[in-house]
Amino acid sequence: MATASPTIAPPTVRQTQCFIGGQWVPAQSGKTFDTINPATEEPIAQVAEGDAADVNLAVEAARNALENGEWSRIDARDRGALMHRLADLMEEELDELAALESLDNGKPISDAKAADLPLAIDCLRYYAGYADKLHGQTIPIRGNYFTYTRREPVGVVGQIIPWNFPILMAAWKWGPALAAGCTIVMKPAEQTPLTCLRMGRLAQKAGIPDGVINIIPGYGPTAGASLVKHPGVDKIAFTGEYLTAQIIMSDASQTLKRLTFELGGKSPNIVFADADLEAAAAGSHFALYFNQGQCCCAGSRLFVEESIHDEFVERLIAMNQSRKLGDPLDPATEQGPQVDQAQFDKILKYIDIGNNEGAQCVSGGARWGEQGYYIEPTLFTGVTDEMKIATDEIFGPVLSVLKFKDVGEVIDRANNTPYGLAAAVWTRDIGKAHHVAAKVKAGTVWINCYDVFDAAAPFGGFKMSGMGRELGERGLDAYLESKTVTVALD
Ligand code: ADP
Repeated sequence: MATASPTIAPPTVRQTQCFIGGQWVPAQSGKTFDTINPATEEPIAQVAEGDAADVNLAVEAARNALENGEWSRIDARDRGALMHRLADLMEEELDELAALESLDNGKPISDAKAADLPLAIDCLRYYAGYADKLHGQTIPIRGNYFTYTRREPVGVVGQIIPWNFPILMAAWKWGPALAAGCTIVMKPAEQTPLTCLRMGRLAQKAGIPDGVINIIPGYGPTAGASLVKHPGVDKIAFTGEYLTAQIIMSDASQTLKRLTFELGGKSPNIVFADADLEAAAAGSHFALYFNQGQCCCAGSRLFVEESIHDEFVERLIAMNQSRKLGDPLDPATEQGPQVDQAQFDKILKYIDIGNNEGAQCVSGGARWGEQGYYIEPTLFTGVTDEMKIATDEIFGPVLSVLKFKDVGEVIDRANNTPYGLAAAVWTRDIGKAHHVAAKVKAGTVWINCYDVFDAAAPFGGFKMSGMGRELGERGLDAYLESKTVTVALD
């Protein structure tokens, strides 16, 4: 690979087995699968390939921990303290975890250190503070009764996460689940199991009791589907594609599980002529190219007001040209490879489609280098609303620029999608900014910024971008049942 010398040595892989009831065990079938380094296309390690048999054991361990183990008796405040301890251990091991994430996923180490790890640690700490603050209510009802509600853990939760932010997605899911007192069976994505397994080890070191967190690496249709169908699992939290969510919804219908989904998007990013164009260009570039374009909320439909279109595109092209692609473990690298061959092929196919649809590829448009799943930062202009590159989630470094003339028009076009995860608006006109924020159908709207995440700010989708919210106080809702207790006072 043509890059500067890698300055960080690849980390040691320590955990590759299933984590069930506090034990590290091979899959019952004895099968393993390779996890691949996307920068070299070579295997990093062989990981246990869990399936239904392993999921059964993990659910049993989680149920036992929930109902009989130390976790069922622990004081809520002590539960919070254990979560803080896990966050502390992650912070102590931040460099190594970031390097492992970078190795397995291909993301630049500098991004993993600056974004994934701090956000994950912050999320665990944020929810640790909630563990002892989950109050019910006292409710005046008719008659001589005393009525109160209890907020109880929903039970054993199955959590299925994707490969684009493996550590962060694990933290988003563990945080509210642990605070609520649930127990967990997690299935990490088959492309990126390593950091989740490492977090399992840190949870164990932190003193989180055996069986509270169980991890089954493996594939979606086997390990994932068994978790979804298992009658001993009370809730599924899933992040991934809407097509997978549809399968999960159908599989979960037999047991009527509680479901939360955080799915994809084709998020509109709207730049008005009166915006701070330098900030808007930098923000729009970041909105799409961050994490190799592999963000569910990527600002992949960039609407630019006609009068500034050409100047704005020039700024974007210049940023693409100076973007540094290379070894993810090199701290100077800004863009790494896509996660795997399948994503790489899919993105190149969309670039072909864009060219064939008549859009103009004004930057990038091809593979970068000869080894690894690298794709040049790619920019299409002349994109119209019905083109597939404007409607489909590409999940790669491919930005579509669309021109618009006025506010009403751009709001209608922004909303003309089955998705509704995020949106952004860039303008100095405060009234216009809030008008767009109110009208756009999306779970998150950023004004003069993009991708600002915080553990306290709820995140999730309208329409086909999801169900329920993660983060913030609302992120706890799906992990709690409400129980009404009424006492006769006579
Ligand atoms: P992506 O295209 O981003 O990989 P997926 O929705 O396919 O998105 O994958 C997200 C997660 O869902 C992964 O952990 C994957 O293994 C899992 N998954 C895929 N198919 C299923 C399924 N049928 N049931 C449960 N989980 C699944």
